[in-house]
Amino acid sequence: MVIEILRKVLEKNDAAASQNRDLLTSRGILCVNLLGGAGSGKTTLLEALLPLLEGRLRAAVLEGDLATTCDAERIAALGVPVIQLLTDGSCHLTATHVQRGLERLPLGEADLVVIENVGNPICPANFDLGEHVRISILSAAEGDDKPAKYALLFRRADAIAITKCDLIPHVAFDIERAVADLRRINPSARVFLTEIRGGESVEQLADWLVRRRDAVCATQSSPEPTAAGAIGPRP
Ligand code: MG
Ligand code: ZN
Repeated sequence: MVIEILRKVLEKNDAAASQNRDLLTSRGILCVNLLGGAGSGKTTLLEALLPLLEGRLRAAVLEGDLATTCDAERIAALGVPVIQLLTDGSCHLTATHVQRGLERLPLGEADLVVIENVGNPICPANFDLGEHVRISILSAAEGDDKPAKYALLFRRADAIAITKCDLIPHVAFDIERAVADLRRINPSARVFLTEIRGGESVEQLADWLVRRRDAVCATQSSPEPTAAGAIGPRP
C-alpha cells in the first residue's frame, strides 16, 4: 500500500518534471538542481559562482527552504532574479514547486535557472525537478564518511563540489578517501574542490556550466522560441 502511494507521488512528480524540462529546453535555458545537506555551502557556492557567470550566462535562481527568505535575500543582493520557494515543512522540493516558481521568474531574460534544493542529503535526490544537470555538494566540515552514507545524493550527480576545502587542516576529512568513495559511487561525475571564498575550481565550474548550456541549445533548432502559451515573466 505504502509502495503504491509512493509510486503515484513519483509518477505525478515525473510528469511535472518533464514539463519543466521541455519548457526550459525549448527556451535554451540550462536548469541546474543543486543538492546537499543543511549548511553544506550551497548558497555560499552560488555567491561565488554567479558573479563569474556575468556577461556569459544570465542566471535566475529558485531558492528552496522550509522557512525564511534568508537565502533568497543573499542571491537578490547579487542582482540576480530569485524566487523563494517555501515548502512549509516538507523536506524536499517537488517538480510542482518548481513549476510554480518558473511561472514567476523572468525566463525571457535567463540562460540558466539554478534550483537550490532544501538542505537535506536524503530525499531530494529522489525527485527529478526537470533539471538538465544535477550538482551535489559535500562539505569538508561534514566528514569524509558522507559519500558512503549518502550515496544516493551523489549517484545521479553530473558534478560534485567538495566545498570548504580550506577547512581540511582543521576537521576530520581525508580528501583522498572522500574522492575515492565518490569515484566508486559515481565514476562519471566531474568533481570540483572549492573553498569558502570560491577559488579557481569555481571558475572551472562556471566554464563547465557555459558548455552545458551550449549543449542544451544545440538540441534545439531554434534556441529562443516565442511560442504562444509559453510561461513568461508576469507584468
Ligand atoms: Mg542555502
Ligand atoms: Zn523529503
